[in-house]
Amino acid sequence: MIKQFVPEEACLKCQGCCRFKDVDSVWSPCLLEEEVLDLMDKSIPPAFINMQRKIRPIPNPKGDGFICAFFEAKLNTCKIYSFRPFECQLYPFLINLRDKKVVLTVDLNCPYVKEKINTINFKEYAEYLSAYLNTPAQLEILKDNPQIIQAYEDVMDVVELQLPDAFK
Ligand code: SF4
Repeated sequence: MIKQFVPEEACLKCQGCCRFKDVDSVWSPCLLEEEVLDLMDKSIPPAFINMQRKIRPIPNPKGDGFICAFFEAKLNTCKIYSFRPFECQLYPFLINLRDKKVVLTVDLNCPYVKEKINTINFKEYAEYLSAYLNTPAQLEILKDNPQIIQAYEDVMDVVELQLPDAFK
């Protein structure tokens, strides 16, 4: 599990994550190959995962748009929190593909990020995360799972990651 930047109490108060405007939103979590297999092993119905290896969003019972199929809307929690996908562990940080560069970015729509972006804690966490993602084992995961390197908007660059061969 990746060390977290946003404390649990801040996440539980927020109404942002795990909700999507569109059914094919870039923000819905994309799964690593091993996570697809792991969810299958846990008897998650295959219909929960779409062709792009993303968790298929479902209509939001509380209003407009969509929510993750694993989001517990009444409690504002994740039903698979202890084994949530890599992308969900990484958030509010995201791995972004831009002009053939793989860049670690952060979502500026996260209220906690907005509040803390100029703090020493943010700087230290960004250093920890970029060092973690630039380890050979993590770069290998990126190389094997190019589907998780996507193009997000409203994000700020943190650091460029070493380029997996798949993108050279
Ligand atoms: S898997 Fe959990 S943390 Fe990830 S988007 Fe779905 S509900 Fe949210």
